[in-house]
Amino acid sequence: MSSYASFYARSIASREAFWAEQARLIDWETPFSKVLEYDNPPFAKWFVGGRTNLCHNAVDRHLPSRATQNALIWVSTETDQERVYTYAELSAEVNRMAASLASLGVKRGERVLIYMPMIPEALFAMLACARLGAIHSVVFGGFASVNLAARIDDARPKVIVSADAGSRNGKVVPYKPLLDEGIALAKAKPANVMLVDRGLAPMARVEGRDVDYAVLRAQHMEAEVPCEWLESSEPSYVLYTSGTTGKPKGVQRDTGGYAVALAASMQHIFCAQPGDTMFAASDIGWVVGHSYIVYAPLLAGMATVMYEGTPIRPDGGIWWRIVEKYRVTQVFTAPTAIRVLKKQDPAYLTQYDLSSLRLLFLAGEPLDEPTARWITEGLGKPVVDNYWQTETGWPILGIARGVEVVPSKLGSPGMPVYGYDVKLVNEATGEDCGPNEKGVLAIEGPLPPGCMSTVWGDDARFVKTYWETVPGRLLYSSFDWGVRDDDGYYFILGRTDDVINVAGHRLGSREIEESIASHPAVAEVAVIGVQDALKGQVAVAFAVLRQSDAAATPEARLALEGDVMKIVDRQLGAVARPARVFFVSMLPKTRSGKLLRRAIQAICEGRETGDLITLEDPAALEQVRDAVRGG
Ligand code: ATP
Ligand code: MG
Repeated sequence: MSSYASFYARSIASREAFWAEQARLIDWETPFSKVLEYDNPPFAKWFVGGRTNLCHNAVDRHLPSRATQNALIWVSTETDQERVYTYAELSAEVNRMAASLASLGVKRGERVLIYMPMIPEALFAMLACARLGAIHSVVFGGFASVNLAARIDDARPKVIVSADAGSRNGKVVPYKPLLDEGIALAKAKPANVMLVDRGLAPMARVEGRDVDYAVLRAQHMEAEVPCEWLESSEPSYVLYTSGTTGKPKGVQRDTGGYAVALAASMQHIFCAQPGDTMFAASDIGWVVGHSYIVYAPLLAGMATVMYEGTPIRPDGGIWWRIVEKYRVTQVFTAPTAIRVLKKQDPAYLTQYDLSSLRLLFLAGEPLDEPTARWITEGLGKPVVDNYWQTETGWPILGIARGVEVVPSKLGSPGMPVYGYDVKLVNEATGEDCGPNEKGVLAIEGPLPPGCMSTVWGDDARFVKTYWETVPGRLLYSSFDWGVRDDDGYYFILGRTDDVINVAGHRLGSREIEESIASHPAVAEVAVIGVQDALKGQVAVAFAVLRQSDAAATPEARLALEGDVMKIVDRQLGAVARPARVFFVSMLPKTRSGKLLRRAIQAICEGRETGDLITLEDPAALEQVRDAVRGG
């Protein structure tokens, strides 16, 4: 048995012994008395009776040995600012923020909603909440007021921390008007709003409610706020899923299990050493930001890079310039970002000294083969696809290179990560699938440490949504299709609600997209099923071209459409061939960069697109509409 295979086997067969060992990676104020309590499935409690604190483990614990080491490197290409904080400086700032929140009456178990741009104060606020035992709920900055109001009403925060503005592509996005409107729309009004004034946009203050963080901070410069020791299962935060498939779910995370899972992942998956520098190019509003910008790198005694900006401004070399300047060792981002870079000059990949960089991690969306190949060859570094969800907080599938560097396969995020008892099941019968048989990716309970403990405020929804969809079995459903090959590698074939049924043949959107993306002219593509009187459904594709003028004339467009159809024909067969291929310059996505296929489908079928509260850019929907109308 390979060393990873035995490591994995032990994590399932001797679950408690395995995790008790991993639990030594963090400090416990009171040791746990029981590794796992699972007498009320599917609710799992990890490290029962243990008391710990995320902020202590991420910050205080490192002060004796790394006070002068970098902890936070903030780079904003939006405002042309950079700031570096050592662990000592980070600790001082977190204490000031914690004291400020405490002065507003924030206590253990209360919620603090964080609606912030990517600035250091956002990270301070998260850690300050952890310090106080308060539950943070970070809402992606720049979300419209309706999104915000829905989350305010669900989380019922005592205090909201916000700022005057964010900035995108060099344009100031004022937050305060959105925030005020969000609070006006919400039923659960916060007692206070604490505001960071970046000097980007004018801000009106509401008398008696709004307070300036600068004022509070100045009153607490020397503050030392003790860590509130939480029982391991007490919530650390609530984070809403991206809303790609429907109404976002409030994912509740525990404290001890999360700390242990992240600390273990840094060793076994991210191959991190204390003193390394991680650059997770994501947003604190998403789970990757929570886990791999904020908590995990700091738990591991690393420096973390927090980046405000896009991957291509001032130019497509900016990320690699940051890697060179700060000697970044691990980069983590989403395939979407790599597809954006792929449209830029490839010379950017070789212009900088990337000798410090060891690994590039990608997650959040399927990593298609051409993109994987382009970035792997361009950087000359291993690219590690990993598959997970907001719900799990850390990878479900991946290659645990810290345990053993087993080879990866293009298009596969790898194998089940230790701790996850991954199953592929037949959606109709609930039976286990064999190799090369497509099924729903599910997880046998208990979920490992760090995964969601419940839906915030709604245990029944947790059980019903996640655990009651596989016939006859209590299994956690990922709502993704997958397949496992003979060597045990998994491939994700798309979401269970993205199935196209052509004359009785069930096709995954993702399979057709993969095929189309292999055409050299195509940068990105979305495939959806559209109602068809004859066949039930047919596949329709929307493609973004690498060179937008490649389909400028009607003749070129027709030729390219034919080419694309031929590729699918050849690779998947005629049933999968898209009935139409439309060319657009961008695809509708969520703010987290995920394709909104159901919106495209609605347009194609002449329906309302419905509630698209997480849509990135309405112009993309217009393009789809125009394309369909143009025929
Ligand atoms: P919602 O659940 O609200 O519809 P969402 O599923 O988009 O939103 P996330 O939790 O951010 O919210 O995304 C997780 C999903 O992203 C996974 O279930 C899967 O569909 C997709 N995904 C993540 N990583 C990968 C990957 N490496 N390969 C393929 N798909 C991935
Ligand atoms: Mg989901």
